[in-house]
Amino acid sequence: MQCLPGRNFFRSVRFRMILLILIIGLVPGTILKHFIIKSYQNSSVETLEVDARGEGSILCGALGSADFPESLAEETIDQVLLQYAGERNGRVLIVDDEFVVLKDTLKKDIGKTMLSDLVINCFEKEDGSYFDEKHGVLQLALPIYREKDVVGGAMLVSIPADRVTINTHKISREMDIVLLVLLFVCIIYAFLSTYLMNRPFRRLGRSIQAVADGSQDELKIEETFSETEQISQSCRQMVDRLNALDESRQQFVSNVSHELKTPLTSMKVLSDAILLQEHAPEEMYREFMSDLSEEIERENKIINNLLTLVKMDKNSSSMEISQVGINDMVERVLKLLRPIAASCKVDLTYESVRPVTAEIDETKLSLAIMNLVENAIKYNRKHGWVNVVLNADHQNFFLEIADSGRGIPEEDIPHIFERFYRVDKSRSDEVKGTGLGLAITRSIIKMHRGTVQVFSKEGEGTTITVKIPLIYSISEAGDHHEK
Ligand code: ADP
Repeated sequence: MQCLPGRNFFRSVRFRMILLILIIGLVPGTILKHFIIKSYQNSSVETLEVDARGEGSILCGALGSADFPESLAEETIDQVLLQYAGERNGRVLIVDDEFVVLKDTLKKDIGKTMLSDLVINCFEKEDGSYFDEKHGVLQLALPIYREKDVVGGAMLVSIPADRVTINTHKISREMDIVLLVLLFVCIIYAFLSTYLMNRPFRRLGRSIQAVADGSQDELKIEETFSETEQISQSCRQMVDRLNALDESRQQFVSNVSHELKTPLTSMKVLSDAILLQEHAPEEMYREFMSDLSEEIERENKIINNLLTLVKMDKNSSSMEISQVGINDMVERVLKLLRPIAASCKVDLTYESVRPVTAEIDETKLSLAIMNLVENAIKYNRKHGWVNVVLNADHQNFFLEIADSGRGIPEEDIPHIFERFYRVDKSRSDEVKGTGLGLAITRSIIKMHRGTVQVFSKEGEGTTITVKIPLIYSISEAGDHHEK
């Protein structure tokens, strides 16, 4: 969780935030610099051009006559052109309609052909200009009319824009300094703000680490931001849940050991007793052996139930779902239990309100129903009754198991589905049991996305209602209510 410098830093939120702040600070700054320089350059070049074009147009007007280019022979023309070029520190060329240079204030290109877009466009009566940014030179071409609408030649003016170039560099340098300062401010701001922002998260990380290491019992709630508060609260809930789970696991292990030890202790006492008896009669041996066998059977039952529970916890996804006729299934379970009911002198009746078919795991649900009905018989009174009713609506089926037994005290009802929980151990011991049957039943009903409700009155009887959806859905989490 801690953000170590080095490789991890580049993957941290902090690094991304720093980068973001720098981008937000610098990109608009750079664009602004470019924009300012461009607009200064444009307006300066425009001023230069307006000035050159104004005077140049007058000159072209003076040169343009019916006898152009012969009119260029006049002596004063050279001087005027030289003066015009000299004032701008530039160069003036005059070309005729065959693109031959007739005049050049630098006297370099006279007689050469001048084919440039600007000159060509001039003969299309389009005077144009172009700023050569690389060399810092403004090029301007103006048409010379021989007569109205007939272009006889063109004046090409090149004016160096040194001032503009120098000032542009100067502005660029100044803007760079501003950007550099901005960069420093952004860096300081980015590091400081992300450091402060990250601090509660780092504290939270340290606290979680401390809980994980075991050096701290409870996670501190980090209240600085709503996010950190929420995360720390969720983590605390998780830690509490894990602690509860650990506690229940420990409790379970101690319960298992205890429950497994009880029959063993009985066996040990029984076998020691018979060993101490010298020349014990055969009937006594038989009686002791039958007690031993009962204890072994009890131990066996506990182990089998435990294995069923563990299997169900581990393979909660291994449901073998099929369409099953519930009426017949309940009938089959009750048939197995009728001998026990008869031996306990309990009247077992079954009422099937309507035919029901549902998507269930038959083996598992049979076991759950078996446990519930067996309890209703076991914890009943002599000549009591157990009534099983099957009903359904369009979404669920309901199985109600009512008995006239001893009932369950109200404070015990929420616990009877816990592993190894037996109401009033001394009384329960009269009836053989492991305290695991209802835990298994609850797991099975939960796996079917069903619910189970218990209504009981001490001394009067118990009614347990199981509700199971007719259609099994894998994704839906089953809510579970117990009373
Ligand atoms: P056991 O193996 O002890 O029957 P269960 O998990 O099936 O374990 O039941 C837990 C406890 O709930 C029982 O020990 C019993 O005290 C109580 N109990 C369950 N069903 C009934 C019932 N129908 N009437 C009265 N008590 C019941």
